[in-house]
Amino acid sequence: MSFDDPGDQRFRPDDGCPLFSERLEEHLVAVLKGQAPNRGQFCGHCYTPVSRDASVCANCGEDARTGRKPVDAVPREIAYVLQAQRKTESRWVNGFAYLGLLIATVGGIALVLAVPLFKERLLYATIAYAFILLVGGRVLAGILGGYFGDRIGFNRARRATVAVWEQWLIERDQAPASGDSREQAREA
Ligand SMILES: [Zn+2]
Repeated sequence: MSFDDPGDQRFRPDDGCPLFSERLEEHLVAVLKGQAPNRGQFCGHCYTPVSRDASVCANCGEDARTGRKPVDAVPREIAYVLQAQRKTESRWVNGFAYLGLLIATVGGIALVLAVPLFKERLLYATIAYAFILLVGGRVLAGILGGYFGDRIGFNRARRATVAVWEQWLIERDQAPASGDSREQAREA
């Protein structure tokens, strides 16, 4: 384990769903933007990019010798799950950031109106309000969006991702080409 590897610091939800490792997310973002082809070698279970000579997936521990064989493209459905997850996350981050701006806008007016000095001095009031909008708006948008929006958005999006993953596993294990019928028999 190396400390300069950002993969080590990444938050990993403990929900049994191996989607999405940082490497898989990077790959899919590039594919979705059209910057990279969806080709390579990926873990047969969690679709994290794996090197050709590695037999055990660093993300989920799937052993290619005894378990699922690596695949050469990430299934389209998995890419769509990531897209949906990121959309949900950014909607919440942006929504909370706007809420922060709104609070600064309304709160700023209330604050300026509450100070008696500003009643006679319109210029001071305007400067104070501009300052509250610029600084307060930015800080509040950052805190609300970057912290609360990010957390709520992540949890919401993650729940949807986990649900799709569980459904995906059921469908994948029922597919005739999946090779391993033992799990299927146990589930049934
Ligand atoms: Zn894996």
